Amino acid sequence: MASDALTTMGTCMFDDAVMAAKLPAAVVQRFNECLVSGAPTPEDDMKIIADTMFAWARERGAIDFAHYFFPLRGGGGAVGGMLAAFKKDTLMDLEFGSKYTTKPMKACLPAERLFQGETDGSSFPNGGLRVTHSAAAFTTWDRSSPPFVMDKCLYIPCAFVTHFGKCIDEKTPLLRSMDAVTLHGLRLLKNIGIGTDAKCMFSYLGWEQEFFVLSAAHYKARPDLVNTGRTLFGKLPTRHQQGDLNYFQAIPGKVQELLDVVQAEMLKIGCPMAVKHNEVAPGQHEMSPVFRTANVSCDSNVCFMEVMNREAAKLGLQVLFHEKPFAGINGSGKHANWSVGTDTGLNFFYPGKNEAGVKLYVTAIACLSYGLAQYNEMVRCTVASAGNDHRLGAQEAPPAIISLYPGQGFEAFVESICSGGDLLGYKAEKKKQETGCSAAMHIEANVEDRNRTAPFPFCGNRFEFRAVGSSQNCCLPIMVCNAIMSAGMAHLSSLIEGGMSHRDAVAKIYTENKHVIFTGNGYSAEWPVEASKRGLPNLNTTPKAIATWSSEKNTKLLETLKIYTKEETEARQEVMYENYISCMCCEVETMIQMVETGFLPACAKDLEKFKGFDKLAGSRKTVYDSIVDESEKLKSLIAAKPHSSLAEEATYLCDTVKPQMVALRAKVDKAESMMESSLYPYPTYEAMIYSH
Ligand code: ADP
Ligand code: MG
Repeated sequence: MASDALTTMGTCMFDDAVMAAKLPAAVVQRFNECLVSGAPTPEDDMKIIADTMFAWARERGAIDFAHYFFPLRGGGGAVGGMLAAFKKDTLMDLEFGSKYTTKPMKACLPAERLFQGETDGSSFPNGGLRVTHSAAAFTTWDRSSPPFVMDKCLYIPCAFVTHFGKCIDEKTPLLRSMDAVTLHGLRLLKNIGIGTDAKCMFSYLGWEQEFFVLSAAHYKARPDLVNTGRTLFGKLPTRHQQGDLNYFQAIPGKVQELLDVVQAEMLKIGCPMAVKHNEVAPGQHEMSPVFRTANVSCDSNVCFMEVMNREAAKLGLQVLFHEKPFAGINGSGKHANWSVGTDTGLNFFYPGKNEAGVKLYVTAIACLSYGLAQYNEMVRCTVASAGNDHRLGAQEAPPAIISLYPGQGFEAFVESICSGGDLLGYKAEKKKQETGCSAAMHIEANVEDRNRTAPFPFCGNRFEFRAVGSSQNCCLPIMVCNAIMSAGMAHLSSLIEGGMSHRDAVAKIYTENKHVIFTGNGYSAEWPVEASKRGLPNLNTTPKAIATWSSEKNTKLLETLKIYTKEETEARQEVMYENYISCMCCEVETMIQMVETGFLPACAKDLEKFKGFDKLAGSRKTVYDSIVDESEKLKSLIAAKPHSSLAEEATYLCDTVKPQMVALRAKVDKAESMMESSLYPYPTYEAMIYSH
């Protein structure tokens, strides 16, 4: 990155520093108080803020403004799928008057338009919460996420709700879950007598985004990539990711250029990137920013994906965010590093240097174990998608079984506390390890080792939800992390409020929920067997996972925490099913089309060349004919798809149609290894992943 780019940090973000510098102190103070209390910003203040933001945005070249929000079903599945939605309104100085206007229009950002917008809710996925004849829906500024200027537009991050206040977006439930963390976090602190001066709690997120970068020309020449985001056919090159060599290679020049530009763009809107490197598979890379409060970080992740797409196009590149763009080589995830803490700086997941810190830490992990054990399926659902089904449990990502890895030392401590031990029995000292040579000095190893096979490992000061898919919006997974943590904190508080001692309450929770703690190898064949003995669900496909979403237990929890009404929970399930079904149907149609218009004509041409050379032709005809047979089978299966219920349709696509897609692909990939190479109708895996 050019060094001058570093000086642009946050220059296009309307954050608290800008507010403090540009607004009267009393306005800022009231604004911040309203953020904590949830009260509306007073009308006079709204006007002052809008005027100031208008002038600030114009100074940065903005000519439009847009309410920026995340409809359900953004991102995942098809490329070109919506990540965020916005309608641009002009921000131009409209100070003109003529005989056609009754009065001169004033240059301003109308206060009511800054804070609220209206649009048509029925055009967005809404799980039946909006229909075309009663369609109004509103965007309203998430006042805890700073507006920013990008590409001549002032973006105002928003929540999106219906005429009746029902949420039809990703953001609103996340914000509600952050309120639940505050409510139950402060209640817990009061009950255990630690950090009682805190006034507010936050949840934090730092995402690690994996992706592939290809040449745009290759991408455009593959109907499967364009329509579904992944290759539906293609055989592995002989050199792929053996030895994980790609990890250690330099980032190719053009990709480096892309990552540098994106880094500079993100910095301007206040999102400094902390990491950029190659990933395991050829053509695969990763970037991750410094963590921030969860809602702001979710906003910046969506923005990052959009900026990547935009800048890649300028360089003749294409970024793939799909979870498994290439069969046979590693897919992409989005590790969500998550923690909760107070406005006074207490991190619940930092073992701490003093007794209060250790006590809080062991208490917080008890709450998390409770949440993960009791609402295990809900956590699994948040990462369920057609794309992620190719990745979870495939020796490259955690299995579909949700367990907690707090470290082996901690696991031993849990045993001791269950048999009467003290809360301070956990020794959280870092360990000094010698390197054995004089030039490289000793290292301070973390309290606990890392476990890359676990869906929820401890990472020193946070947990890393590793099962999140690369194309996903992080809002839902983090909302559920907050929800289950709040459930655990509420449960512990109720035990203490009922008269139990702090130690006994923590011990009781561990005794009842320690089956969710697993510190072994999550990729091993023994783990699913062991997990089943422990009663942990193994929801290894998306339809199986979605079926559990609206259970009585889940609905009740989300309702109690005021995150989702029963209606909203059910609507979300419907959207999950629709998403899965539309993604699978699009894949099937694309497969059939590529066979008919690409592979069969190529096979025919190839056979032509072998006319009269039966021995040389070998099994070509048999293999090519079998493509027709498998394709016909796929067509008849998709034609017989049931329509009785979304659940049945999704299950059928998963259990009956998907195996046939695999069978068809196998024949086409076999043909690829026989066909004259110039006849193969699309860019090959080899060409695509080694395009730089
Ligand atoms: P890894 O070691 O897993 O490769 P990285 O350094 O790539 O990790 O990314 C770790 C991410 O975790 C970064 O986004 C970082 O800012 C974030 N992070 C660090 N501390 C916290 C915390 N307390 N809460 C949430 N995220 C955090
Ligand atoms: Mg990580």
